[in-house]
Amino acid sequence: MKKYLLIISAFMYMVNISAQKLIYQNYYKADSLLKVVTKNYIVNDQLIYSGFTYSMGHYSFPEQQISYPIIYSLSSLNKKFILDKELIYNGKAYNSTMVFIGDSCSYNDFGEKEIKKVSLNGNEFSYFYLPINVVNIIKENRSSLHFINVDDEYYSLGFNNLLGNKFYITVDKNTQLISKITQLKYDDLYGDTYQEILYANYKNNIPYDITVNHNQIVKAAFHLDSVGVKKPSIKVDSISNDISKETISKGLFIIKLNDYNNKILVTEHEDFLAIYEAPINVAVGNEIISFLQKHFNNKPIKYCFLSHHHPDHAGAISSFVNVNAKVVTTKGNVNYFDKLSKSIHTLKGEGFHPSKYNANYIIIDSLSEKTFFKKSSTSVIVYESGATTDHTNEFLYFYFPKQKILFVGDLVIFPKEKIRDQKKRALSVYTLIKSKKLKVEKIYTGWPLKDQKEFGTITDLKNSLLKSYPDLK
Ligand SMILES: [Zn+2]
Repeated sequence: MKKYLLIISAFMYMVNISAQKLIYQNYYKADSLLKVVTKNYIVNDQLIYSGFTYSMGHYSFPEQQISYPIIYSLSSLNKKFILDKELIYNGKAYNSTMVFIGDSCSYNDFGEKEIKKVSLNGNEFSYFYLPINVVNIIKENRSSLHFINVDDEYYSLGFNNLLGNKFYITVDKNTQLISKITQLKYDDLYGDTYQEILYANYKNNIPYDITVNHNQIVKAAFHLDSVGVKKPSIKVDSISNDISKETISKGLFIIKLNDYNNKILVTEHEDFLAIYEAPINVAVGNEIISFLQKHFNNKPIKYCFLSHHHPDHAGAISSFVNVNAKVVTTKGNVNYFDKLSKSIHTLKGEGFHPSKYNANYIIIDSLSEKTFFKKSSTSVIVYESGATTDHTNEFLYFYFPKQKILFVGDLVIFPKEKIRDQKKRALSVYTLIKSKKLKVEKIYTGWPLKDQKEFGTITDLKNSLLKSYPDLK
């Protein structure tokens, strides 16, 4: 009996593994196809289409349609999409506006004066009049993206929007442009039906003809009249624009990540850079890398020193592994950092697929120290003393002897306004300075940034400890 159970559980395990593999494989296939499509679309300020909208209902014979001339103006402004319609009825013009911002939608119907908030649910199909909006919604809901099928001319992908509504797109294999989006739709009369938007006659990757069908009956058909000013595609997921660099001393810099309440140090050497801390995540890491490339003449980042494993200090490690930086850390972090460095990030933002997975480590043993860049004016001594920090089991302090600067990650804070009484974490900094007889004029921290002094002094540190440790020497 036991044997059978074992066989069954082994089988279930394998089914589970292969199911997981399938999910990845399917998603990555869809994602790589989407990447090609994405590149083809740019944001146009305004596109004006004219054509006809068709209504059906209480007319002379079943399924009779009456057509009305209509002008559509499709405007994209930052993350806002505005759909203006002007309908001509009995020689008179009527206007309707729909405004989409994020997951909200406002609307006034023809003849109504006020624009009111409406549910996105049921209205989101109009948002897809522009194929670039389709691409953007898929990017925002990547985890729902999947590959469906392929034939000689087209392939199709499926995705859900944030409301959980399901859509399918058909992409022309030749042009790599979306030719159709489809959604299931219930109709009171016809029952289970679908609605679709057909994009045709692309020129400069703009569809010149758009047709909206409900249940295979044309609801609207319009043709492009004019294109507004073109601009390059807005990077919707753009990360912080708010990184700044300040010089501490020759060859030693502080980089402030203002949006992330975080800071790192950088030393510049003859033909490379070293950074101290890799905060937050890969998106921020890549942003830091491009910032450094720009400000330091593309010098390679050869070393990445990490005080400890917390995300606000090491969350971006794989960005730096990917550019071949050697990682200076402690041995307890290696397995975890290996795991992070192998991770693929496509489900959010612009995505990140590292080309290099294996980090080169320089391990600082427990309670040991190591000097780097001895001949440089910005040499640094790394001390391990996690046991005393009351923060993490392993912790690296970075001491710049020539500048008399000690970098301590998040072990101590120096608020601008007043002295904050601190305990064991801050005491460990004091203990290190005393036990190693370090000459320290400035103590720099990695976190936080806001409302903090540029640096603290030994006196600041001592003052923050006196309440808890009145006998401090
Ligand atoms: Zn921490």
